[in-house]
Amino acid sequence: MEPDLRVVERSPVAFVAKIVLRTRAVAVTLGTTIHLSGATRGEFLASPLWVEHERVHVGQYRRHGFWRFLALYLAESVRRGYHDNRFEVEARERAAEVVRSSRTRATGR
Ligand SMILES: [Zn+2]
Repeated sequence: MEPDLRVVERSPVAFVAKIVLRTRAVAVTLGTTIHLSGATRGEFLASPLWVEHERVHVGQYRRHGFWRFLALYLAESVRRGYHDNRFEVEARERAAEVVRSSRTRATGR
């Protein structure tokens, strides 16, 4: 993970998201900080797919700017919900691509 990304465990922000999304473990990216609830830093870093997903969100903040991205993300969530939010769709698809291509390189297939 890039040295400019921070991971915060037991984050109150992520705790609220965990309740709202009714999930066991959640990561919430705010700028370059990844807030966790229900998972340790070690558990998070052990999942390449999860790390890449949050890294895509970091890129979305960089692309749109912090407050603008937050506003766009919330508007998308209200309009389409969590799963169909275009920023979540992008994060899922790009993370899957990155993990798939790194596995292909590792196995030579
Ligand atoms: Zn996401």
